[in-house]
Amino acid sequence: MDVEALRLRLYRQLAEEGRVAASHQIAAELGVTDEEADQAFRELARARHIVPDHNGFIELAHPFATRDFGFSVKGVHTLWWGGCAWDSFAIPHLVDDGSPALVATTCPACGTAHAWNVNRDHAPAGGQVAHFLVPMAHVWDNVIHTCENQRIFCSEDCVDDWVRAFGHTKGAVFSLETLWKLASKWYSGRLERGYRRREPAEAAAYFRGVGLTGEFWGNGSLVLEEN
Ligand SMILES: [Zn+2]
Ligand SMILES: [Zn+2]
Repeated sequence: MDVEALRLRLYRQLAEEGRVAASHQIAAELGVTDEEADQAFRELARARHIVPDHNGFIELAHPFATRDFGFSVKGVHTLWWGGCAWDSFAIPHLVDDGSPALVATTCPACGTAHAWNVNRDHAPAGGQVAHFLVPMAHVWDNVIHTCENQRIFCSEDCVDDWVRAFGHTKGAVFSLETLWKLASKWYSGRLERGYRRREPAEAAAYFRGVGLTGEFWGNGSLVLEEN
């Protein structure tokens, strides 16, 4: 099976409809066996393009999700689940007709509702902060856990309350403007044939370019050298 064609088939459906076929549906559609479809899904999962569950249903295909990860992203024609704060701010940049979109969430600490009109031209106004729990080097140790914990809080005080309540080690805290910059070009090309994920060094350079530096972002030693 042409796995890249399958990747595009899955991603384009997610972009257009906000939902996606499971592996057994793909098998029926393409006239292949369930086993062949499962194998192609596994190959896409190994390449970290999709995160399927054990029954061949896709849970995450960044920036898209198929269940609640804390964020809805409402475009003019389509309603998406965003996989996390980063993913939710990325969808309006990635999808044709996806800008502007209404990104909505609740603060994990206090439950306050927040929403922003996210477009491609400039970052949305707002004093809320993003908090990412898991350092970039460990994102794929358990990517579901990682995405579930990339959230937006009312303020750093709410982050501190939440970190304390759950016994977490505080991760990275940054502004909505930085989140918007981080999201703006991260997934560029993902809906086109031949998309290649960034190597860790390229990712670290991208993070530096949007002002995210330090060990959390995988570029700590460079920062130390400069300081
Ligand atoms: Zn709060
Ligand atoms: Zn995510």
